[in-house]
Amino acid sequence: MRCVPRHLVSIADLDAAEIVRLLDAADRYWPSVSTSGTGSDEPVKKTSLRGRTVINLFFENSTRTRTSFELAAKRLGADTINISGSSSSTTKGETLTDTARNLDSMRADAIVVRHSYGGAAEVIARSVKASVINAGDGQHEHPTQALLDAATIRRHKSRLDGLEVVIVGDVAHSRVARSNILCLAKLGARIRLCAPRTLMPRGIEEIGGELTRERVRVVFRLEDGLDGADVVMMLRVQNERREGEACQFPNTRELSRTFGLSERTLAYAKPDAIVMHPGPMNRGVEISPQVADGPRAVILSQVSWGVAMRMAVLERAVLGDVALS
Ligand code: ASP
Repeated sequence: MRCVPRHLVSIADLDAAEIVRLLDAADRYWPSVSTSGTGSDEPVKKTSLRGRTVINLFFENSTRTRTSFELAAKRLGADTINISGSSSSTTKGETLTDTARNLDSMRADAIVVRHSYGGAAEVIARSVKASVINAGDGQHEHPTQALLDAATIRRHKSRLDGLEVVIVGDVAHSRVARSNILCLAKLGARIRLCAPRTLMPRGIEEIGGELTRERVRVVFRLEDGLDGADVVMMLRVQNERREGEACQFPNTRELSRTFGLSERTLAYAKPDAIVMHPGPMNRGVEISPQVADGPRAVILSQVSWGVAMRMAVLERAVLGDVALS
């Protein structure tokens, strides 16, 4: 029997208690996905979604997100189907809503969607019975990335409340930044956004109303952003979203020189600060190879958490809540 759909379009759909429930559920799946040597050797095979169907509908490229949703669904026993934009009938003129409705008519339980238009996931959620999970819509949001980031931080820092997290780079075009601002603020962290003025949207600290107004600070120098930070989250320049923009400042070289994370600039952060990146990284641009491969980087741990968190998110979407064991 289908449950009432539990969409996940935005972090705004979740209150702090629901986020913590998802973090706790991902914790339970962690031993089965971890490659750190602390996990069990056998990936856990669960059956909570046996007989259910998860459709990955991706209109934009993806390595980590799509693979981890597929793995997560399979580890829960669901049947999975992957559809990419180029192989779908939208290339023949079918609307996004019609495509989604057709998939819904085949009794999909969850549709995981990535699209270049902000709002695409919400449009689909309004027109189907399946639960819709936003896997990235334009520069709007990427909620499961923020949830897996929160899980990674909690694992490495034991808490989120009161932490100083700096998000550095192309904030203007980043859905990862928007979802993280909302999620981290709900969990009690303080957030600094650090970018050149041309890559910092005016009023970004208002994105979550009073909550983020109080918790978000905007800075324009890397040293100010990194100073005393517990967590450093680097962003890629989303060149695919800057095409056609009149102002292309800074260019890659300038950005790397003024906002790139190197061993030298990382020294401004706390000595035990962790370094994160949602991927794909542009080595030598926003992050040096030494830092990316260094002892403080938790970038591959984020990838592993992606599978655990997406298991939790899929259970919530299909069953109405995360399983308790
Ligand atoms: N993978 C992330 C996203 O889909 C970040 C990026 O592409 O730079 O938004």
